Amino acid sequence: MHFPPCATVLSHTPRGVASVVSRALGHVGWVDDRERRLAENERLFREVNEGIEKAALRQGQDGHVYDFLCECSNLDCGFVLELDLETYEHARADPAVFVIASGHELPEIEDVILRGPDYEFVRKRGEAGRVARKDDPRGG
Ligand SMILES: [Zn+2]
Repeated sequence: MHFPPCATVLSHTPRGVASVVSRALGHVGWVDDRERRLAENERLFREVNEGIEKAALRQGQDGHVYDFLCECSNLDCGFVLELDLETYEHARADPAVFVIASGHELPEIEDVILRGPDYEFVRKRGEAGRVARKDDPRGG
């Protein structure tokens, strides 16, 4: 009495199938690509806002509100947020956090962590969060 030779083959099948399936699904990478692209958009807005803040700081930090661009994933957004520097700095404390207009969040890639009167702070999840941290203009 001995085990049939095919038992050995069967025990290897799940891993073999998994690797074939994952090769066939090579396009699953599109999710990451899309998240990366969305994060790229937000990084552009953040760079603009960093410039706005620098200019504002030169004028003095006196509680004035300044026009910052909505940092949502929509490249065509262009929505202007009126924020004081304290609020903007608060968001900037975490490189994965962006300031956006209320309702501009993309729940699939980010969580709303603070709701203001007409703005929100969102924190990136997953790949988008990694890209945001890696590309932090203050990270060096
Ligand atoms: Zn927006």
